[in-house]
Amino acid sequence: MDGNQASRSMDIVKGIAVSPGVVIGEAVILDRGAHHLKRRYVEPGEADGELQVLETAFKASLEEVRTLRRAATEQLGDETAAIFDWHMGVLGKDRHLRQQIEDLIREERMSAAAAVSQVMHGYKERFLKMKDPIFVERTEDVRDVEQRLIRNLLGDQAEVETRFEKPSIILSYDLTPSQTAQMNTDYVVGLATDVGGLTSHMAIIAHSLHIPAVVGLGSVTSKVKAGDTVIIDGTHGLVICRPNESTLARYREEAEKFRVFELSLKQLRDLPAVTRDGVEVSLLGNIEFPSEARTCMENGADGVGLYRTEYLYLRGNKEPSEEEHIEAYTTALEACDPKPLTIRTMDLGADKYGPLRGAESERNPFLGLRSIRYCLQNLDLFKTQLRAILRVSRLGNVRVMFPLIISLMELRQAKMALGDAMEDLEEEGLEFNRSIEIGMMIETPAAALLARQFAKEVDFFSIGTNDLVQYTLAVDRSNQRVATSYTPSHPAVIRLVRDVLRTAVRMEVSCGVCGEMAGEPVYTLLLLGLGLRQFSMVPGNIPQIKKLIRSTTVKHAERVAARALSFDTDRQVRNYLRDETARLLPEVL
Ligand code: PEP
Ligand code: MG
Repeated sequence: MDGNQASRSMDIVKGIAVSPGVVIGEAVILDRGAHHLKRRYVEPGEADGELQVLETAFKASLEEVRTLRRAATEQLGDETAAIFDWHMGVLGKDRHLRQQIEDLIREERMSAAAAVSQVMHGYKERFLKMKDPIFVERTEDVRDVEQRLIRNLLGDQAEVETRFEKPSIILSYDLTPSQTAQMNTDYVVGLATDVGGLTSHMAIIAHSLHIPAVVGLGSVTSKVKAGDTVIIDGTHGLVICRPNESTLARYREEAEKFRVFELSLKQLRDLPAVTRDGVEVSLLGNIEFPSEARTCMENGADGVGLYRTEYLYLRGNKEPSEEEHIEAYTTALEACDPKPLTIRTMDLGADKYGPLRGAESERNPFLGLRSIRYCLQNLDLFKTQLRAILRVSRLGNVRVMFPLIISLMELRQAKMALGDAMEDLEEEGLEFNRSIEIGMMIETPAAALLARQFAKEVDFFSIGTNDLVQYTLAVDRSNQRVATSYTPSHPAVIRLVRDVLRTAVRMEVSCGVCGEMAGEPVYTLLLLGLGLRQFSMVPGNIPQIKKLIRSTTVKHAERVAARALSFDTDRQVRNYLRDETARLLPEVL
């Protein structure tokens, strides 16, 4: 009848490899993404069956919402529970909506799921066009009702479940950072999504949790049924649905080889990252959760170069208290002490929304009220975090870093908020490190071009290439449709990185790179040759980057960088860097 009745033979789907490794297991479908269903048609004799399935799905959905409302009334009170009234009205009483869906099934022979999707899509479009924010907010409710109906039509599991009880490979249209953050990662062994790009935040989390993952697969969720055997090949960006025996055997061997390679890298853990001509480099880890600071140390990190604290805000449905911040930072600091812990202030917005800061339907969220902009408009929220960072700074080597700065004014406002927090603590007699190092991320061309001016006002820079690439090239980092244009090999990007590194040396501020580029072996020689001495990355990549650094000389890397800068196209740059890296250490590619 519909998408999940896919052909039962082996199917190989190609996507974007975001987290390496191979895993074989049973598929769990989290969310097929109703809006992603294609218009599908049914045979003339099947329309009645579709109408019947539709009736059942409406009834089941209504019952689900009633149950939700009852539970919400008990736990949160009647006022909050009333948000479900609209859903109940749509599912139980909206004859007009129902009629439109039935007409599409009868007259255009659409499948029930496709008809629901089309009608709900029309509602969303109309709501979005209305200027009143109430209607714009309602689009989330429309999507919720749509997904509930489609799920009941396609017979997927009851609720979007993020707490799994046995090892599972999760397939989903998309995974929001908050869904990923809430997953019981003891049981999630592989991830695959229809949408997403190399540096979407779900990809970063999968990588840091060591879960093989592939994104940007197009329509993998419509090709697999819950319970099908699937292989996730996170190294080559493949998902193999219902593999045959010989493919299974080959991949079991691959999985074993990968395990052995990882083991060999672990042996480098306690050796320094020093080039063959004696230049020492710092390799730091990027973390999203405090417990990962330990993972950094286990991988031989020289500290935490980026702690993405926004995940504290994505887990619960209320703002974290000062004490909760302190607890998280202390846990991370204890794991890395005496090495540095770089705490980046919260970077919500763009593709990271939680219950606290809902998606407010901005037309261009990556250009919207994101990151430091959001903090400066919500000073109380910002100060709670700054106070906590300061209070933990007395316990060890804590650095504070502001994200997405585009102007001196913004930087000064952020520093002023920090100064205010210091004064308050002083008045309250609470201790902190007054000379805490203050840094900023260079993530926009504006910041890169003004690096000289910024250098006078901070202690350190960290180049966030994930955003720098997207803002320099005007390519959404999480959109798989433009993923081939999203590349740090672009000559404009490498020139910006080179210029910032040069300025930092001249102005005597320390400068690292903490975007994914710093952890990709193909860019190690280039970055080393451009003068980078602080690489911050997904902790699991530290050993292989260390191996590369220990295999080369700065002189050689400088030659590679100079040559890379002579090319005009990203493809030339990337091919050249791949060849040079392969010549040095083929196994890291
Ligand atoms: C970056 O933009 O490179 C970065 C490290 O920040 P995030 O990926 O969290 O946006
Ligand atoms: Mg960023």
